[in-house]
Amino acid sequence: MKDLNFAVPQLINEDVKDYRKNSDERIEVEKTYDLMFNQNIKIPLYIGDEEIYTEERKEINPPHDNKKVVGSFSVCNEQHVHEAINNSLSVKNEWTSTPWQKRASIFLKAAELIAGPYRSRINAATMIGQSKTIFQAEIDAACELVDFLKLNIVYMNEIYHEQPITVGEVSNRLEYRPLEGFVYAITPFNFTAIGGNLCASAALMGNVVLWKPSDHQVYSAKVIMDVFKEAGLPNGVINLVTGDPVMITEIALKNKNLSGIHFTGSTDVFKSLWSKVGANINLYRDYPRIVGETGGKDFIFSHPSADSKIVSTAIVRGGFEYQGQKCSAASRIYIPNSKSNEIIQNLKEQISTITLGSPRNFKHFMTAVIHENSFDKIVSYIESARDSEDAKIIIGGDYDKSEGFFVSPTVILTTNPNFITMEKEIFGPVVTIFIYDDNNWKDTLKIVDNTSIYALTGAFISQDKDSIDYALKTLRYSAGNFYINDKPSGAVVGQQPFGGSRGSGTNDKAGSKLNLLRWVSPRLIKENFNPPTDYPYPYME
Ligand code: NAD
Repeated sequence: MKDLNFAVPQLINEDVKDYRKNSDERIEVEKTYDLMFNQNIKIPLYIGDEEIYTEERKEINPPHDNKKVVGSFSVCNEQHVHEAINNSLSVKNEWTSTPWQKRASIFLKAAELIAGPYRSRINAATMIGQSKTIFQAEIDAACELVDFLKLNIVYMNEIYHEQPITVGEVSNRLEYRPLEGFVYAITPFNFTAIGGNLCASAALMGNVVLWKPSDHQVYSAKVIMDVFKEAGLPNGVINLVTGDPVMITEIALKNKNLSGIHFTGSTDVFKSLWSKVGANINLYRDYPRIVGETGGKDFIFSHPSADSKIVSTAIVRGGFEYQGQKCSAASRIYIPNSKSNEIIQNLKEQISTITLGSPRNFKHFMTAVIHENSFDKIVSYIESARDSEDAKIIIGGDYDKSEGFFVSPTVILTTNPNFITMEKEIFGPVVTIFIYDDNNWKDTLKIVDNTSIYALTGAFISQDKDSIDYALKTLRYSAGNFYINDKPSGAVVGQQPFGGSRGSGTNDKAGSKLNLLRWVSPRLIKENFNPPTDYPYPYME
């Protein structure tokens, strides 16, 4: 596909590197990790051409080594937030009128930098700051971010080429204008790629962005800002502020020029943003676009025909990778009575081989959970299962925060399909199993549909084609990403556009054309080549 002098990239995903012992990439990332772990980095605010190092600072502590200080980030005040918004608005006209091919080439360059010279840096920052194993960092910070940056250019090109028909003496065209004000991107701790994408997708479509990353993703956010700068993104197009999320949000949401919110995070925070926008609606020039991908209570349903090993592997990978801190992580599991012993036995065997520790030690499948609040919340769910008559802990249940926030992979068995850990998002390495009577598998699907407020991801595992068709119908609105004979996590940009409905978000499918459409406000332009010169119509003769 060619347009003017710009060839859009191919729809191909970034290759995931192996990081085998003694491989070049392994040696490189180990070296970079050690350097970044000990360099005591100071992270500024990024406002226009200024990098501001505030006096008030917050420490960055790796979750797996929670007393170690690897650096600090700047805490902004109210004035900084106003400045960041005003600065973005001051560069808006220039960015908006920058040809789309040039915008695309900047983000393409950013993708190349991440895939190449910045790969080990962005992976190491994600391992240190967010406690991801090298594999989890690679598929997120390197590959998924590269995919977002590249493939969004393909989708942007498709959008721009979608035009109305032109007939007779009239020419019609749609001009895909960026939104008139600024976009506020608020991003979570758990995916470096989401941090980069939520600001870059809106900026790619010609918007200016105020980016507020999570306090627990600032190290890798800094690498992303370095990449954007080196790629040639003009100052001010994306300004980054860190600090009190309530204060920053209060100011952004009271600004008349707010045209959009691009949020990923928990459901309660998203609801609070939505109600604040509602309360402030008379302040704005636009109706702000509100895009939010939020929590999940993702299920695996094993049909009686399913292969037990496939089910237990989907539970282990889907439930415990990245310590269960993916919005798509499996956390409620439905298994048939006839296979329950076999599945649980397989689970015990697989989980007994899992070790937890620092991501710097490559043998670990799991590391620590993100911070103390999260650790304490997960522990309270584990203890509520220990104390309940409806549930028992059959695997794991141990935890220790003395050096890092470590929670061992935990499996709860419940007799109550509405037990608290079947309903609430825990965001940790805890899955709960409910055993159903084989003959009731159809009724149990109705329970799956009704149990939680969320509808993000779900998996149905079965060797029986008819049962798959039945599940697809019954669970039509239970998940925005529905997986058959697979785990419910691990969506790949361009292959499985991601998002859910109900309490899980606005389902605008990050990494697809649907999402990019939210960041434009099309103007229809009709040109008449032969305008009439008198008003009567023929029927009036
Ligand atoms: P979080 O809601 O605590 O924080 C998300 C962002 O909101 C952060 O930048 C945070 O600083 C900010 N924030 C927190 N409180 C705020 C407030 N009162 N006002 C304004 N901003 C506020 O979420 P998290 O712990 O960083 O991430 C985990 C959550 O994100 C989980 O619920 C998970 O399911 C969800 N998530 C969803 C998806 C998805 O695609 N559906 C993807 C990743 C994460």
